[in-house]
Amino acid sequence: MNLPPEEQVFVRQMLEKLMELGIGAVYGDEDENEKPALVDCEPRLKLCRAVCCSFHFALTKKEAQGKKIAYNQKKPFFIKRENDGYCTHLERSTLRCSIWTERPERCRKYDCRTDPKVWENWQKGILKSDALKHLSTLKVYSQ
Ligand code: SF4
Repeated sequence: MNLPPEEQVFVRQMLEKLMELGIGAVYGDEDENEKPALVDCEPRLKLCRAVCCSFHFALTKKEAQGKKIAYNQKKPFFIKRENDGYCTHLERSTLRCSIWTERPERCRKYDCRTDPKVWENWQKGILKSDALKHLSTLKVYSQ
């Protein structure tokens, strides 16, 4: 959706309200032409703490109808997250995806390298100072 950021916030809030009322559901709309991102996550996991696996996104209709990927029952069909802010499918001890081969399209295509919410400078390994602030229980999983 190519809306200005303030309109995106408004639309999201409106949808969340509808979902809370039990009268709305959202499917992810993936661009078939968008290629999977090839990011070498392993060397940077100690820095980023898999913060991408705490982001909010909707599953496609096919994913939501399948049995492999859990979605939030109160906000269908957004990926299910736990109280710590992370996706249900993230292995907390290793910060790896437990359904890697079956992971959602959004996870396959998301590229943190150009996301200003995550990196100040990906090449130099400089994380944005507030990138992890919403992960309140993060130290529990620090290795
Ligand atoms: S499905 Fe896997 S890759 Fe996607 S957010 Fe959850 S843990 Fe991360």
